[in-house]
Amino acid sequence: MTFMPLPWQSSTMPVPSPTQPVFRFAPSPNGLLHLGHALSAIINHDMAAAMGGRFLLRIEDIDRARCRPEFEAAIFEDLAWLGLSWEQPVRRQSDHLGLYAAALERLREMGLVYPSVMSRGEIKAAVAAAEARGQAWPRDPDGTPRYPGRERDLSASEQAALVAGGRPHAWRLDVAKAVGHLAAPLAWCEAGADPAGETGLIAADPAAWGDVILSRSDAPSSYHLSVVVDDALQGITHVVRGRDLYHATSIHRLLQQLLDLPEPVYHHHRLVLGADGRKLSKSNGDTGIAAFRAAGRSPSDLRALVLGTT
Ligand code: GLU
Repeated sequence: MTFMPLPWQSSTMPVPSPTQPVFRFAPSPNGLLHLGHALSAIINHDMAAAMGGRFLLRIEDIDRARCRPEFEAAIFEDLAWLGLSWEQPVRRQSDHLGLYAAALERLREMGLVYPSVMSRGEIKAAVAAAEARGQAWPRDPDGTPRYPGRERDLSASEQAALVAGGRPHAWRLDVAKAVGHLAAPLAWCEAGADPAGETGLIAADPAAWGDVILSRSDAPSSYHLSVVVDDALQGITHVVRGRDLYHATSIHRLLQQLLDLPEPVYHHHRLVLGADGRKLSKSNGDTGIAAFRAAGRSPSDLRALVLGTT
């Protein structure tokens, strides 16, 4: 089957230099940055500087219901206070929705997506009912029950009728079918220095996620879809991010293969944990960069704290 070129496959797209590394820090403006974000931004910035590379900032604001301009302004302020500088203009995902829609359309043409209408409550109930019958329900790497995928096997006309029926729906990737499209086993190159993690060639396991969401009724793209499109379009050579996104790389590699996108090197770094040993969250004010600054501490204190050099 031949397809029309995707927008980024046109000859007018800038071709990234193969010799200059490109790094990015890609926060979502849905809360204040915490010390874990500071670590990620500092590592990206410092690696770019050490390798003569570029450092980009990308605002991942697909989820319009949760993202706010004041959080975006706080990101710029916090990073500038940390002494980091980044290239302009900053890419904002909400400015590029058409590109993600084109990527989704391509996957639809390939017959790899289906509309899903089960609400969170319905999924929960289906899982609880299966478990009550003694059936173990598979969980994704984050521990969330995998989508039951009831609509996966509907015919094209049944799927069209479901969409036309007006129920809010998401588009999901039929991961098993997508994996069936691959010519070779999927892997990624992990360069992370985290002593807890493996480095080298890592076998990807996208099926572990089940049928991930690529767009929802209230958000025109998902994190997974837009992150792979943007990493490719911005010529990102090194994706450096927290270990919490390690397993998501399996899905990213699958989407890159399906959409003909280049493969960056991945580097997953350790997380900064709270006093309770858990991952920091944006709602936890005391571990925010802004709160650290307001307490009179300096950018070099923060660097030393998150890099563990105190
Ligand atoms: N936007 C994501 C976050 O804030 C990070 C995406 C990435 O680095 O791949 O967690």
